[in-house]
Amino acid sequence: MNGSILVVNCGSSSIKFALVPQQSGQPRLSGLVERLGASDPGLKFTDENGNKHQFPLPGADHASAMQAILEHLGDRQPRAIGHRVVHGGERFKSATLINEEVIDSIKQCASLAPLHNPANLEGIRATRLLFPDLPQVAVFDTAFHQTMPEHAYRYAIPTELYREHGIRRYGFHGTSHAYIAERLGELSVHGHGGWIIAHLGNGCSATAVWQGRSLDTSMGMTPLEGLVMGTRSGDVDPGLHLHLANQCGWSVEQIDQMLNKHSGLMGLSGLSPDMRDLEQAAGDGHSGARLALDVFCYRLARTMAALSCALPQLDGIAFTGGIGENSPLIRSRALSMMAALGPRLSDIANDNLARGREGRIDLASDTGSPEIWVIPTDEEGRIARETAELVEFQPYLDFHPEASA
Ligand code: AMP
Repeated sequence: MNGSILVVNCGSSSIKFALVPQQSGQPRLSGLVERLGASDPGLKFTDENGNKHQFPLPGADHASAMQAILEHLGDRQPRAIGHRVVHGGERFKSATLINEEVIDSIKQCASLAPLHNPANLEGIRATRLLFPDLPQVAVFDTAFHQTMPEHAYRYAIPTELYREHGIRRYGFHGTSHAYIAERLGELSVHGHGGWIIAHLGNGCSATAVWQGRSLDTSMGMTPLEGLVMGTRSGDVDPGLHLHLANQCGWSVEQIDQMLNKHSGLMGLSGLSPDMRDLEQAAGDGHSGARLALDVFCYRLARTMAALSCALPQLDGIAFTGGIGENSPLIRSRALSMMAALGPRLSDIANDNLARGREGRIDLASDTGSPEIWVIPTDEEGRIARETAELVEFQPYLDFHPEASA
């Protein structure tokens, strides 16, 4: 056993994993099992030395795939396991050690995330069988946003729907937003002030953070609300569903598929959900790609401006996720539509920041205007740290149960 934490992110047909060493900054082993349930599942991973490995896993299910991962870890056995769990409802406000009661609660939250929580539970079940003696921790995507005030998390629909069915805004990408908020605390003199964090990847969300706590976020009851994403629509008129059902004869499943899988950048461009493809195609004059970029940036700017209402003051804006970290074009276009809030981008710093690097990209000499940062996210590192802290703190809690109240 070494000091590493195994981080597991189990989806319905895939398992992402990483072995995160105790000391930050050390190289990680990380990998992926894909196509579970299809005819040709396979495991690939990159070890700590950067060597790539690939193995077919014919007929594998979640349990046998976890077994294969364990075998390939060899003598690098972890000291604890941290699971990404998508929905923690109102019950989980922070990471928690997994026991039977916690598993039951995650099952209860599954009605709010029917695609994600059951897959996360598959991973938990498999690792508990394989590592019965290791502490296991659930880290929830929703937990960071449990500090939102009621006026931010309630929908203006009848209260019984909230009381009886938990219908409210929860927010997602919490691990990423929490990591960036913490990093801003280390990097900026305003770190504990008011920030808007834009996590822009295949999924996109923006969060207003004050003193390290989430006060509002763009995703809602599900990860479909809010910004334009790769294949997800983000906000649409709620009347759209009725219109498509009554006027066009669409089923609920067709509407769901369209909004989740065929919309967003993909739907607008008719070309690709991938921002790299769209930037290239827009540069070549593709009108669908141009429109997709326009809508993406406008909706991002509009959402960030709206989120500033949650903050007593706006000290800065931070970008993360595959697009936020790597696309000077999207950062610049979205910020240019937010002039009223005063961010002043340095075009030189924005264009010259190396891909995937951390850096400040505003005109720093403009005192008083919000800072602008690019910070690569580290969800695996954050899950590993929350897991390690909980495992270390647990012996204390066993003797002082009042401290966990
Ligand atoms: P993620 O889900 O965080 O991995 O982000 C995936 C998104 O980041 C995709 O839309 C990619 O096209 C986008 N992305 C990655 N690299 C770049 C880049 N250099 N320029 C623009 N977009 C990028």
